[in-house]
Amino acid sequence: MLYGYWGFYYDPTYFLVLIAAVLSIIASIRVNSTFQKFNQIPSRSGMTGAQAAEQLLRSNGIYDVQIQHVRGALTDHYDPRTKVVRLSDATYGSTSVAAIGVAAHECGHVLQHHEEYAPLKLRTFLVPAANIGSRAGIPLILLGIILGYNNFLIQIGIWVFAIAVLFQIVTLPVEFNASGRALRLLERQGILTETETGQSRKVLRAAALTYVAAAATSVLQLLRLVLLAGNGRRRN
Ligand SMILES: [Zn+2]
Repeated sequence: MLYGYWGFYYDPTYFLVLIAAVLSIIASIRVNSTFQKFNQIPSRSGMTGAQAAEQLLRSNGIYDVQIQHVRGALTDHYDPRTKVVRLSDATYGSTSVAAIGVAAHECGHVLQHHEEYAPLKLRTFLVPAANIGSRAGIPLILLGIILGYNNFLIQIGIWVFAIAVLFQIVTLPVEFNASGRALRLLERQGILTETETGQSRKVLRAAALTYVAAAATSVLQLLRLVLLAGNGRRRN
């Protein structure tokens, strides 16, 4: 309704949001194909993702973080509350350069948590508000429009949505930093050769692009909401 009412003629930002959405889809297809490609290449060390993660954590003096297997494709993550690195079907037992890269990336998040890396702390702090913002932002704005341009509701909607956008922006340095740490450690510790590290880098870069595309999409959505709210105010 929000979109149909004004049409794209008065609202060129609609195209930007569409482009960003298409880029997000391309990025997610690309991360899968890049992972598949480098998941065919076994590392020379012959370590599995789980073994590589274990070595990276222990060699950095971290003994209280467990490594577990989780179902699904690319569902790998680090849960700082339970202190568990969960590696998916494709990474846990695989010896490929892709699997080791992803496992090391999750260890990068462990190290960030251990060192109280500032962007990660900010990101964690924003989680509850960002969850509310991503769910309630647009409904609040719509409600504000339905109730005859209730400016208060529209403003609140935009501000809570902005927190969700901020969360996605803060995610970027956290993700890039985790990959940077991972690749440095893998090469320094001889888990991957220089060539293999380069291949792993391609996988992690493709993964990072999905976060960039998601952040760009949400920034453009916010811009669009601000412009639409401004247009509505002028018309009333
Ligand atoms: Zn990550």
